[in-house]
Amino acid sequence: MSQPNYYANNLLDKLKIKSVKDLQLLELIARERGALVQDKPLQGAEARIAIAGRRAIITVSTLITDPRRRRFSIAHELGHFEMHRSHGNLALCTAADLEDWSAKRAGAAREQEANQFAAALLLPERFFAVRCRNQEPSLDFIAGLADAFSVSLTATAMRFMQFTNEPCAIVFSKDGVLKWFHESKGFKDLGLFVEVHSKPDPATLAAALWEGRSTSKRPRRVQASTWFAAGNWNKDATIVEQSWIFSEYGSMLTLLWVDDDIEDFDVDDE
Ligand SMILES: [Zn+2]
Repeated sequence: MSQPNYYANNLLDKLKIKSVKDLQLLELIARERGALVQDKPLQGAEARIAIAGRRAIITVSTLITDPRRRRFSIAHELGHFEMHRSHGNLALCTAADLEDWSAKRAGAAREQEANQFAAALLLPERFFAVRCRNQEPSLDFIAGLADAFSVSLTATAMRFMQFTNEPCAIVFSKDGVLKWFHESKGFKDLGLFVEVHSKPDPATLAAALWEGRSTSKRPRRVQASTWFAAGNWNKDATIVEQSWIFSEYGSMLTLLWVDDDIEDFDVDDE
C-alpha cells in the first residue's frame, strides 16, 4: 500500500468513518484532526494550509465555486497536514498542484502525494472498490460514482482505473490536444499505449466532437488503430470509445475500453 493510501485509511479508521454519508462531513473530519477550514481570497493559489504544531488552518480560495473542487482542495491540504507537517508549516497550492497526478515537474512529489491522499480519502477503497469490480466501464457509470461521492468526474475516473478488472483507460484532452492518459492494470498488461501531445485521429469520436461533427455522448465502436501506438495487437481489432466534451473548460474526457481479445497471436507463430 502506498503511503498516501496508508495515511487516508488510517484516518478513516481513527474517526470510525462507516459510510459514504459520513465522508460528506469533510470539514468536521478536518476539525477532528485539528484543522479548521475557512474561505478567503487568496493570491496566486487555490488553497493553503498554515500549520502550528498539531493545529492548522486550511484556507480555500473564494474563487473556487465548484463544491467538488473545494472538497478536493480541503482533502489535498489535509493530506499535507497528515503526511508532510515535518517538512514545513506552510503549503500554498496552485491549480497546477491540485491537478498534478503524473507530471514530472520538479519538486512536485509532495503535491502528487497530497492528491493521492485526497483521492484515497474521498473515494476510499473500502467503499469504492467494490462498486468498480465486475462493472462494464462507461462514463455514465463513472459519473454516477462521482455524484455519489461528490468528487470530480476526472478524479473518479482515475480512481476507477485503479480498481476495475477491465482493460480500459481514460484520456484527458485540452483544446483539441491529447494531454495524458491513465490506464487500468488490464490495459497495461496488454502493453497498450496512447500517444499523447497530438491531436486525436480524425476517425475517433473525440475528433468528431472537437470539430463539431458529432454531439453524441454515447459509447461507439472504433478501430483500435485510431487510438493505440504500435504494439502487439491485431490490426483489425476494434474497441469501445466514449468521449464527453466540456466546452466551457475546453476539455474532454475519453474512456477507451478493450471489450474483446485484441492480442495478435500470429506474432508468436513464426
Ligand atoms: Zn499542495
